Amino acid sequence: MALRSIRELGDPVLNKKCKEVKEVTERTKELIDDMFETMYEADGVGLAAPQVGILKRICVIDCGDNPILLINPKVMETSGEQTGQEGCLSVPGKCGVVTRPNYVKVLAYNENMEPFEVEGTELLARALMHEIDHLDGHVYTELVEGPLYDVEQAPDEEIGE
Ligand code: ZN
Repeated sequence: MALRSIRELGDPVLNKKCKEVKEVTERTKELIDDMFETMYEADGVGLAAPQVGILKRICVIDCGDNPILLINPKVMETSGEQTGQEGCLSVPGKCGVVTRPNYVKVLAYNENMEPFEVEGTELLARALMHEIDHLDGHVYTELVEGPLYDVEQAPDEEIGE
């Protein structure tokens, strides 16, 4: 395992659409391990492959209790609405208010390319939407309502994704 360097806003790799994963090779497994390690080291709750410069549809999430690997994730269903602070490991030191669905159901594949569903509300729903956006070349700053705050000056707690 190794830490990978996190690409920051302005790096064109963050605005590209990622390719579907067709098979999980040894290299893919190494990437996944590195992504978890990099996310935990940076104290984030999620990380998408383009954030480490790889244009593949892979992301990892851990909202504090459960590491989730998502390969080729697809949003199947959303409902409700939540408005709150959001941050991103690719936009260090900043956060802003984003409205997201309050419930999301996602279909994805695991390391063995077996399909599974994951449902999330609140923080997990926000993280799922945020990470899947990354795979389509979108960063949360496109959705921020109002100013982008410095984390220390933000009215609420920050979420790093
Ligand atoms: Zn992010």
